[in-house]
This record gives sequence, C-alpha cells and structure tokens, in this order.
Amino acid sequence: MSTPSSALGGVATATPSALRIVPARHPLQLFGTLLALSLILLAVQSVLGNPRWGWGTFAEWFFARPVLEGLARTLWLTALGTAFGFALGTLLALARVSGSPLLAAVSWGYVWVFRSIPLLVLLLLLNNLGYLYSTIALEVPFTAITLFSYPTTQLIGVLTAAVLGLTLNQAAFSAEVIRGGILSVDHGQYEAAAALGLPRARQIRRIILPQAMRSILPAAFNDVIGLAKSTSVVYVLALPELFYTVQVIYRRNLEVVPLLMVATVWYLVILTALSLAQHRIERRFARGQLQRERSVSRVVSRPRSTPAAAPGVATRREHSVPVAAGQGAAVSVQGVSKHFTETTVLDDVRLELKAGSVTVLVGPSGAGKSTLLRLINHLERADGGVITVGGQLVGYRRDGDTLYELPEAEIRRRRAEVGMVFQAFNLFPHLTVLENIIEAPIAVRGIPRAQAEQQAHDLLDRVGLTEKANAYPRELSGGQQQRVAIARALALQPKVLLFDEPTSALDPELVAEVLGVIEELSQSGTTLVIVTHELGFARRVADHVVMMDQGRVIEQGPPEQVFDRPRQQRTAEFLAKTL
Ligand code: ADP
Ligand code: MG
Repeated sequence: MSTPSSALGGVATATPSALRIVPARHPLQLFGTLLALSLILLAVQSVLGNPRWGWGTFAEWFFARPVLEGLARTLWLTALGTAFGFALGTLLALARVSGSPLLAAVSWGYVWVFRSIPLLVLLLLLNNLGYLYSTIALEVPFTAITLFSYPTTQLIGVLTAAVLGLTLNQAAFSAEVIRGGILSVDHGQYEAAAALGLPRARQIRRIILPQAMRSILPAAFNDVIGLAKSTSVVYVLALPELFYTVQVIYRRNLEVVPLLMVATVWYLVILTALSLAQHRIERRFARGQLQRERSVSRVVSRPRSTPAAAPGVATRREHSVPVAAGQGAAVSVQGVSKHFTETTVLDDVRLELKAGSVTVLVGPSGAGKSTLLRLINHLERADGGVITVGGQLVGYRRDGDTLYELPEAEIRRRRAEVGMVFQAFNLFPHLTVLENIIEAPIAVRGIPRAQAEQQAHDLLDRVGLTEKANAYPRELSGGQQQRVAIARALALQPKVLLFDEPTSALDPELVAEVLGVIEELSQSGTTLVIVTHELGFARRVADHVVMMDQGRVIEQGPPEQVFDRPRQQRTAEFLAKTL
C-alpha cells in the first residue's frame, strides 16, 4: 500500500514535464501476436515446402498466353456485367421508388424472379433460348408489322448469353443495393431540391444519387467482387474465361493444383485491384462528410461581436450590400383545406398577404403552419380552395370552372419564384457552400456559371459569410448553415420567401444571427411569410400576424393588436405559454 503515496511524493518533487511515462503492458496481446506470426510461418512453409503445390508449373503457366486471354475475357465479362447490371439496376430501383404502382410492381417482380434463379440455371436457359424460340423478333402487338427478326442462335451467341445472364443477375442484386441507398437519403434533401425547382432528373443526378452513393458503394463493391468470381460459372457455356481455360489446361497436363493456383492468384489480383478502387471511390463520394484538416479551427465557437440578447440588431453589418428591392408578389389563400387520410390539417384557410409584406404565422405544434407553407409552393396539393402568387394560380391552370394541374416543368418554373427556408436547413452536404447556392440558378434559370458564382459571392457577403464559400455545410455552425440556406433561396430572386421555423434548430446564441439576416430582408420588398416562435422578433418585423390552431386561422391582424389585445382566449393562452 506504500506505492501510491511514494508515487504521489514523486509528483510533488519532480516537475510534471520531467516525468517518465511507461505504457501499460498487454501480455495477452503479445502472446496473440507471437501465435499469429508462428501460424503465418507454418502456412508459408507448408505452401512453399511441399513440392506438390508445383510452383514451377505455376510459374510456367501464370503468364501463358491462353491464361492471359482467359483473364482478359473474365475482366471483360466483369466489366460488362457491372456496367449493364448497374445501369439496369438503377432503372429498377428508380421504378421501385417511383410513385407508379405498376412500375414498382414490375421492378419488385423482376428482383424476385432473378434473385431466385441460380446464375448457373439462368446461363444454361439463355444458352438454350434457341431451342425455345427459334427467332427473336420485335413486332407491334396485334399487327403484322415486324420491326426486326433474327434467328436466336445467331443473335445470342455464347458470349452474349454470358453477358446477358450476368447482367440480369447483377441487376436484381444491384437494384436492391441502389434502392437502399436512395432510401438512406434524408427526406429534407428531396424537399429542398424540389423547393428550389430543380428538374427531376437533375435532382436525382446531382442531389440524391451522390449522397446515396455513400451507402451504395460498400454493398455495390461486394456485388462486383461477387460478380468477378461468378464469371467463373460461365465455364458451363464453354466460354474460355480464366477458370475454363485452366480447366482445359489441367485436363491435358494433369497438373490440377498448380493450375487452380494460377486462377486463384489471378482472382486475388483482380479483387485487390477492385478493393483499391473501392477505397478511392468511397473517398471521393465522402466529399463534405470528412472533417478536413483546415476545418479544425472552424467556426462554432468563434465569438460573435454581438450579444445574443439583442436579436436582429445583432447582425446588421456595415459592409452589407444595399438590398436590391426584390419585386414582392401578393399571396392569396382562398378557402384552402387539406386532409391527410381522416385528419383535417387545414380547414378553409383564408389569407390575403400584400406584395412586399412581412407575415408571421404563429400557433401551436400541429396547427398546420408547415402544411400551409408547403401548399404555397405546391410541394403539397390542396384538397379544396386555391392559392395565387402574384395573381397566378399555384400549380393549376384555370379554364372556366375547371382547374387543370400544370405540367411538372411549369410548376417548377413557378416554384422557383417562391423560396423556402427549412427548420433543418437542408443544405446539400456533398456540395460546398458556393455549389449549394449556384445549383438552382444554373439549373433552373440557365444563368452562366461565372455569373451565378458572382451573384453567390454577393449573397454570401450579404449574409456575412464571404470567407465560407468553399466550406462544406458540415464545417459550419447551425446559424451559418441557415444563413447559407437563406442565401441559396435568395439566389433565385424569389418574389415570396417562406421560412419554416428557421431558428428552431439553433442553439440560443446562434438565433440572433439568423434573425438579423431575416430582419434585413424584411426591408427588401420581397414578400416574407415566417413561421416562428420568436415573438419579440415577430413584433419588430411583422406587418401582419396570423394565429393558427387546429388547421384554422383563428385570429389575424397587426402585431400590436394580436400580441397586446388578442380577441381569442386561445391566442392569449398560446402567447402566455410562448413568452
Ligand atoms: P405545424 O407546422 O403547425 O406544427 P404541420 O403542418 O406540420 O403543423 O402538421 C399539421 C398536422 O398535419 C399534424 O397533425 C401532422 O401530424 C399532420 N401531417 C403533416 N404532414 C403529414 C403527412 N405527410 N401525412 C400525414 N399527416 C401529416
Ligand atoms: Mg411545422
């Protein structure tokens, strides 16, 4: 028991930096290491020492011409199976998650069938297709018109059958892998991409798939590696790929083991190359996910010059560019209602918001505030009533008493006039701040990249983030992310800007910087609709306050009236709780 006290004595006398540090010993770890080493040595000795492995024969055949030709065929089959398999798999996955029940069912059926059939059986079936169908023809159904017709055996040779079989098989597996990836992308990403008015194909290509890739890649490489090995099954078609070739050779010279080792080592080489490729590609798609070195000194705790207690006043900056008066548009909500299955979420909501006005929506959780905002940019369809923005119907074209839903492209064009800022920011994590901002102006408005970047820099200046253009969202604090989200919405020069609880996800000391930016915008002439629980802020910036409860507007008017002399008991209660 004397040890602790003597150790303490040592601490007291020596300076801490002069103390010697002895790491704890791990006897078990040492034992494990020695055991592993001896096992490896044994294995090496048994492989090299035993003449029956026939390493001489191995060396003779390893680079032999027929083996290399077989290897080339294996690589070729793997490459084609991967390319076609993943192409078809992507289509199947998209069909499965599409809104269409028929497409989803077809995709489901395909996956069910082709995952069930063993590859070997599939290959043999395809190879015997000529027996089942002597010609393959493309005809227009129920007519005599034939687009082309070919004898099956000519059209589907051994190589085609092999590629077809591998592709059909691979597609079934990769479809599920890709679907998993698509489902792993946060719903807010879809919503943000749609709210920016990005075309559907571009949403998938630029926003969804790159993020889905992170969870797709490890599983996909598993599949590709499986495929590289499955190509050996093709030997049943007598296609001289690597495995078939070594079989042909050892049947002649009876050196079975050395030739199997030739194939094994080549497969090892292929798989090593694939694993390296996987590492590289995964790193590329981890863009924005890894904390980069330089970001260690980031952001979050940078002291702000402004006290949190004074929201709004806070972030008004001397350098901020004078706001070019955006042309606000009037918003008219006329008897709108919305149901989700049985629940009525909005019930005969009527609002008239003037162009350039600032409206604050308040009300308890579940009142329907978010749903109303989503209806204003047609992310959701109303069940009754209509909404107009700048006099134009949202989402529909009116002909007499009938409303025709607009084509997708037209909805997108109008949606770009209504910007949206979300509680969860929903920045695209794999794109830099600058890329987040320029995505929609380039895709939706067709602005040249250089001009879009210039505008983005101006906007970043306006929200006080000039130096963050090349950072990834992960490298920013919540308040900074939300300011980028506001800049991103502004980049489309919307006539109406919707904020859905923009500060609810923020730490208290970061709220002020976001409210400051919004307050500045309130002078800009853009029509703002803000859902917030920051009542002090609401009182300062709002022209009009709307109180909602249980899907209805129960009270509206200027802030002094609603906040100081509420007419409804419910409003008074809500305000008392929120303050
Ligand atoms: P708020 O934003 O005021 O909190 P919301 O508009 O988000 O309210 O939601 C209003 C009501 O609608 C809630 O009861 C919610 O459960 C319901 N709701 C919202 N979206 C959906 C949906 N997609 N499916 C079913 N119910 C929904
Ligand atoms: Mg909400």
